[in-house]
Amino acid sequence: MTKQQTVVLDFMRTQFIHPTAETVWEGVKDKLPGISLATVYRNLHRLCDDGLVRQISMPDGSNRFDGNLSGHWHMQCLSCREVYDLPAQALKAPDGFQVYGDDVVLKCLCSKCKAKV
Ligand SMILES: [Zn+2]
Ligand SMILES: [Zn+2]
Repeated sequence: MTKQQTVVLDFMRTQFIHPTAETVWEGVKDKLPGISLATVYRNLHRLCDDGLVRQISMPDGSNRFDGNLSGHWHMQCLSCREVYDLPAQALKAPDGFQVYGDDVVLKCLCSKCKAKV
């Protein structure tokens, strides 16, 4: 693994904020001076190919990355666009069904935004 991949993976395994590539870039720039956003993208996709990071397509069209590989789904707040983990057990399939929902993203209003309504 290259130093760039190590630093990017390290960021992904400590920051469970479902960052965009831009956010990852902001987070690793200090450790990898001069690294371009395109290079961060390339490293993220490489880590996804290797199964070390997940890429999640959001309902708003953005791509987020997740270093938490445990089985869980996601929900995105319609207001603040934060992405939250949704435990896989939170949704129950009908008896006899097996669902595969790694890429499931539900829309939600998070508790912070809901409190403001
Ligand atoms: Zn919110
Ligand atoms: Zn997640």
